[in-house]
Amino acid sequence: MLVVYTGGTFGMFDNGQGLEASTDLETDLAEMVQIAQVTTGVHPWRYVALGEVIDSADADLDHALSIAGLLREGSAQARGIVVVHGTDTLAYVASVSAFALRDLSIPIVFTGAQRSFREIETDATSNFLAAYEAASDGQPGVRIAFGGVILPAVRAVKRSSDEDAAFVDYRSASRRNLGDTAPGTYVPAAVTTRPVDSDSVRPSVGLLRVFPGFGAELLRAAIRLYPDGLVLECYGAGTAPMSSPGMYEAVADAVKARTPIVIVTQCQTGAVQLGRYAVGAQLYQAGAWSGGDLTAEAALAKLGVLAASELDWEQRRLTFAKNLVGERIGS
Ligand code: ASP
Repeated sequence: MLVVYTGGTFGMFDNGQGLEASTDLETDLAEMVQIAQVTTGVHPWRYVALGEVIDSADADLDHALSIAGLLREGSAQARGIVVVHGTDTLAYVASVSAFALRDLSIPIVFTGAQRSFREIETDATSNFLAAYEAASDGQPGVRIAFGGVILPAVRAVKRSSDEDAAFVDYRSASRRNLGDTAPGTYVPAAVTTRPVDSDSVRPSVGLLRVFPGFGAELLRAAIRLYPDGLVLECYGAGTAPMSSPGMYEAVADAVKARTPIVIVTQCQTGAVQLGRYAVGAQLYQAGAWSGGDLTAEAALAKLGVLAASELDWEQRRLTFAKNLVGERIGS
């Protein structure tokens, strides 16, 4: 088992100025591993800490891609990997690994905690043990073990800043016509793109939420800042204030300049259907891509990994529309 420590509340301590990540957790994790070894029978383990452990609020796409690179390196000698991570960006960062490492055949399980392992009523130990157990089960793909549930990384969102059950997969849990896809079940799909070379590319992708009063100026500013792709969190079935001056042109110009605009919904459940309302149809006509029922976290990660994959525009467009690792169950 490879155990990777990246930071987060799990190992934090308060030095008087608020919680900060501890630089090294090897000795403390060794005690938890001892218990996990008994329950799983998986004994040999190796510890790796990121060069810079952080509060995961400081994570960006480069950071997420470097974690994915580290996991790829470590995967050669591991039958499973546990990643200890902060909860704030856990769903984003784990989703990047899910897309970037979709060709790997071992379990990779991210976990973290709402309270440091140093606290008496900590959830760190139980989360770690659950992650170690899941990472021993041979099921390929990237998952999150947290608060008693195991979720596919690409469907999970952080729902609580203090409850133990911090992560949830709202969209799968609420879908009525899942067919073979049970809630929370990982769905492996064919690998259709090359793995990411995280050293050579620094893509810039962003996420923006529309709100009453949203306009083209803000949209254009975001497109300038994130030329490799922008996820636009729209209303309901994928609607935005398209009668606001310049909105259509802002989207159309971005797409012409090869900046993908991906539409996801702000709603917890349901999917984007751009043809349903005239304002959604305008987004589609301007060239926006439908994000279906992707979470914003997974959409941003997918755009980032595709931007880093050296695929051309058309390949990126086609690949984005596919379900690569169970991230897109709906339309
Ligand atoms: N701010 C912390 C982090 O994301 C929160 C946590 O780990 O729960 O690193």
